[in-house]
Amino acid sequence: MTAQLIDGKAVAAELKAHIREQIKAKIMEGKRPPGLAVILVGEDPASSIYVRNKREACEQVGIHSIYHHLSADIKEEELIALIHALNHDKKVDGILLQLPLPRQIDANKVLDCIDPQKDVDGFHAYNLGRLAQRRPLLRSCTPYGIMLLLDHIHQQYKGKHAVIVGASNIVGRPMALELLIAGSTVTVCHRFTHDLPYFVRQADILVSAVGKPEIIKGEWIKEGATVVDVGITRREDGSLAGDVEFEAARKRAAWITPVPGGVGPMTVAVLLHNTLRAAGYINSHQDDFGLR
Ligand code: NAD
Repeated sequence: MTAQLIDGKAVAAELKAHIREQIKAKIMEGKRPPGLAVILVGEDPASSIYVRNKREACEQVGIHSIYHHLSADIKEEELIALIHALNHDKKVDGILLQLPLPRQIDANKVLDCIDPQKDVDGFHAYNLGRLAQRRPLLRSCTPYGIMLLLDHIHQQYKGKHAVIVGASNIVGRPMALELLIAGSTVTVCHRFTHDLPYFVRQADILVSAVGKPEIIKGEWIKEGATVVDVGITRREDGSLAGDVEFEAARKRAAWITPVPGGVGPMTVAVLLHNTLRAAGYINSHQDDFGLR
């Protein structure tokens, strides 16, 4: 078997085109464009690239992005004061605080200050709690982007064993909740899991979000599985590596995401979608991609 590729770039482009059309239509009706405040603290090169990509994506679809680039030595109180101001700013529908933050800042404390209705990353405890209760509002971008990719390939969830490797607040945990809502039986593995291969071998749906190149060996993959590789690590030669031994896994899986070009573009597309939702462009609690 040679797995088919799940083309995140193409699916994200489709979603972005749909978002662009929605914004155009609302502007014709006299509504102002959605506004996204983007906050970058410091000069971390990877974060700077992510922020640039997100702002470019906003521009492509007609979202107005308002950029706040703050010095790395900013005090926690100053950052919190900015968040409070953005919470009250009527032109700002969404607030994106790029992580990680410098050491002197308690990221949880700051994230807690973001108005949950403007929490377009879906990181706020309120939004994660809503997801845990099967009543999601703004959903974490990467896990929800993965669900859209899985829907795109008509993945079956009910009765399937989904195994997630990685249990972070921004990927692994909300991913587990999404797959649970979809009806899968879910196992979450993490750094303290004994015998990772034992669990991976059982996965009908495997999502790996660790950030260690090729930690998942191709021979562990169940025949016919769907493999989603969230991990991105830059190797010394500058190339990008996923968590999964791609070529070997491809021989066993039915579907697999490439790195890059798999999950990453979907994360950005969902951020745009969440901004539309925060701006009240999408009224229903159902998603309007027609995919879920
Ligand atoms: P994190 O460091 O917060 O979490 C990593 C998780 O992996 C932890 O739960 C840890 O317990 C687990 N882990 C570590 N070693 C392990 C091992 N040997 N066996 C099993 N589990 C192990 O990372 P994160 O923020 O969740 O990101 C994970 C990866 O996903 C990174 O490479 C990151 O760059 C990437 N990422 C990609 C996107 C995207 O849009 N493509 C978005 C977010 C994160």
